[in-house]
Amino acid sequence: MRLRPRKQFGQHWLRSDRVLHQIIKAATLRPDDFILEIGPGMGVLTRQLLPLVAGVIAVEIDRDLCQKLRQNFIDVYHFLLIEGDILAVDVSAEIAAFPQFQRPNKVVANIPYNITGPILEKLLGTIAHPNPQPFQQMVLLVQKEVADRLCAKAGSRAFGALSVRVQYLADCEQICSVPAQAFFPPPKVDSAVVRLTPRPPNPAAHNPRLLDQLVKLGFATKRKMLRNNLTSVVDRDRLIPLLESLNINPQARAEDLSVAAWVALSNALSEDNTVGE
Ligand code: SAH
Repeated sequence: MRLRPRKQFGQHWLRSDRVLHQIIKAATLRPDDFILEIGPGMGVLTRQLLPLVAGVIAVEIDRDLCQKLRQNFIDVYHFLLIEGDILAVDVSAEIAAFPQFQRPNKVVANIPYNITGPILEKLLGTIAHPNPQPFQQMVLLVQKEVADRLCAKAGSRAFGALSVRVQYLADCEQICSVPAQAFFPPPKVDSAVVRLTPRPPNPAAHNPRLLDQLVKLGFATKRKMLRNNLTSVVDRDRLIPLLESLNINPQARAEDLSVAAWVALSNALSEDNTVGE
């Protein structure tokens, strides 16, 4: 059976051994790892993972692909296929019936790009509600532009709300760029492999909801100076001396503040009981 890639599911089959190798290497796999794979597709990455780990739990939405995967991996006792939407399935509940599978500790995946944001949120949680059982590591193939934003440093053009949200919860590294030709069919954009390593926020926000709100407001009108776009939370007369006391330039824009500076600002504001309540 020849399966034609379906656009609505963001199907682009990876066909580069070099990239597969880079993904596997970046995942620093151990024989006791349980891997969550999102969108195994035809199973090229799955095939590389299986000999190296204790189990692969794969979630695939496409029914025809699931049928094919079941046929191909019929004898593989440490492969578990969950047919469904990664955004809707409860992986822990699904694996509860299979005693040989533990909760996955790592994620390795070539994900569907059209739902990258929601997938990241499901895996990492949010500033206000971090995933209470974080993964040790996540190696993901994403759009290059997203990879650049995930790994951007403050002050660079790519640094945005996504950078702050994700870097608050995880260390982010770009492993390698991946040209569109590494896939069939080639997507319209280039890609990159990233590795996210969740860890407790440092420094942590005293009021994570306020931090979330500040980041949202700050980046909503990126070009404006912070002192002009945070006015719904704090008036300018109070914000300017506060920025100065935190050694933040009072003319700063959202993208100029490091994650630590965002947290410092949020914590300084949350100490003042008139905001964020
Ligand atoms: N890992 C494969 C395929 C990547 S393409 C490879 O590297 O070749 C993305 C895959 O995600 C496709 O198989 C697609 O069917 C699947 N997918 C798309 N949306 C999904 C969703 N919401 N939940 C689970 N899988 C999904």
